[in-house]
Amino acid sequence: MKRRDILKAVPAAAAASIASTLGGPGPLQAAQTAARRGMPPLTITDVKVIATAPSNSNWTIVKVMTSEPGLYGLGSATHQEVPQAAQAYIEKRLKPFVIGKRCDEIDDLWQSAYVQEYFRSGPEGNNALSGIDGALWDILGKRLGVPVYQLLGGKVRAAVPLYGHTQSMDLNDLEDQVRKYIENGYQVVRIQTGVPGFSGYGVNAKTSDATQALRPDGAKGISPVFDAGRYVNATVKMFEHIRSKVGFDIGLVHDVHERPAPNQAIQLCKAVEPYRPFFMEDCLSPEDVGWFQIFRQETSAPLAMGELFVNRQEWLPLVANRWIDFIRCHISAIGGLSQARKIAATCEMFGVRTAWHGPGNVSPVGHAVNLHLDLSIINFGIQEENKFSDHLREVFPGTPEIAGGYLYANDRPGLGVDIDEKAAARYPYKGAGGSRGNDRRMDGSIVRP
Ligand code: MG
Repeated sequence: MKRRDILKAVPAAAAASIASTLGGPGPLQAAQTAARRGMPPLTITDVKVIATAPSNSNWTIVKVMTSEPGLYGLGSATHQEVPQAAQAYIEKRLKPFVIGKRCDEIDDLWQSAYVQEYFRSGPEGNNALSGIDGALWDILGKRLGVPVYQLLGGKVRAAVPLYGHTQSMDLNDLEDQVRKYIENGYQVVRIQTGVPGFSGYGVNAKTSDATQALRPDGAKGISPVFDAGRYVNATVKMFEHIRSKVGFDIGLVHDVHERPAPNQAIQLCKAVEPYRPFFMEDCLSPEDVGWFQIFRQETSAPLAMGELFVNRQEWLPLVANRWIDFIRCHISAIGGLSQARKIAATCEMFGVRTAWHGPGNVSPVGHAVNLHLDLSIINFGIQEENKFSDHLREVFPGTPEIAGGYLYANDRPGLGVDIDEKAAARYPYKGAGGSRGNDRRMDGSIVRP
C-alpha cells in the first residue's frame, strides 16, 4: 500500500502518528489540522415519523436522515396517550426547523428547538424533541463507530439491574410471583395489590355492584371507585405479608401512583417503614410537590418521584433540597437524552439516584436511551423492566437483551436498535392511547391518576 493510501484508510489522529513515522512535515501537518477541525460537517436532510404499535402501546419513532448516504438515526418520541400530537409537532414544527442543520451540534439544536415555538415544556413538544435528540446521538455514535454509552463517558457497570412487576389481588399468588423473580436472579421487585370490590392502579380490579350501591344518587355507576383509606390498609397488609414470607433481602418497590391525599400518602409511607421498601413511587401528584419538605421530615421511606414531570424546573427543588431519593422521569417526556443526562449529573451532586420510567409505553428505542444512560452514570439506582416479545424484536432488531434480572447493551454503534419499517407498518396505532382519569371517589369526585 502506498503512503497516500495508508493515510486515506485511517482516522485523522492515527494518520498523524503514521505520517510522523513515515516522515515529512506536509502530511503530518495536514493530518493534525484535520484532527483539530473535527469531523466534516454532516447535515440533516429529512425527518420521517414511523408510527407503530407491535405491543399494547402506540410508539412514535423518529428517523433522521443525513447528508451521508445511508446514515440515519432513530429516536423515541412516544407520547402513548396522544401519539398524534407528538407526531404533528414533529411534522409541522420540528422537521422544517431542523432540516439543513448540523447533526453534530446536538446541544445547540436541542436548545434552539426547545424555544423555537416560544411556549415550551409541554409533553407533546418534549416528546417530539426527544425523537430528534435521540436520533442525533444515534447518528453521532454510528459515525464514530461507538455505542452511545461511550459518548456519555463509558460504562461504569457491566449491565443494568432491573426490577420486575408483580400484581395480584391474592397475596399468596403475589408471593409466588415475587419468588419467581427471585429464582430468576432479580434483586428488586415491584409489588401491587388491590381492594376487593374497589378499583385502583396496578391490578385491574373491578368495582363491585355492592360498592356502587353505596354511592350517592348521581354518582352510582358513573365510574370505577377508588378509596384511598382502604387502599392504604391493603398496601400495608401486602408489605407485611411479602416481608414475612420472603424476608428482607430482596428490594420491594411499590407504585402509589399519586392517588391518595398527601397526608394519607405520608401515613402509608410511615406504616411501611418497618418493611423497608426499596422505594415508594410517585406518592404525590405533580400538583402537590410542595408537600415534599413535610413528607421528608415525616418518614424515612425512600421516595421516588417524577414520572409525570415535563418542566425543567419541577424536579430541581426536590433534588437540590434532597427531598427525594430517586428521580424517575419518563425520558422522552422531558425532552430526551440531552436533558436526562443533565438531570442525572445534577442528581449525582445531591446523592439522588435514578430510576427512569420504563414500562411498555416506552419504545425499544426509548429503552435503549435509558440503558445507555444507566450504563454510564454512577448515581444509577434501578431500572424498571419491560419484557420484549419476539415479534417486537422482529420490528426492532437490536432491542436490548434481558438475562438474569439485567439489561444488556449489544455494543453496536449508536443506540444499537434499528427498525424494520415493513414489519412496523403491519402494526398501526391502536386508537386512543389509553385513558387515565377514570377513577372517582365514592362521592363522584375525580381522582388524580
Ligand atoms: Mg409509576
